[in-house]
Amino acid sequence: MKTCSGCNTLVVDFVQFKCPKCREETVIRCASCRKSANSYIMECGFVGP
Ligand SMILES: [Zn+2]
Ligand SMILES: [Zn+2]
Repeated sequence: MKTCSGCNTLVVDFVQFKCPKCREETVIRCASCRKSANSYIMECGFVGP
């Protein structure tokens, strides 16, 4: 199971892409976070979107 990088809930419907900053982590965004443009903080310090 994947966990959303924004809201930390288990996700089924999501998009994933490499972290734009470190290019190593994978960003997972669920449908509701995309819709509400919820922000997320990665371990490298990148804050999205
Ligand atoms: Zn989410
Ligand atoms: Zn990163």
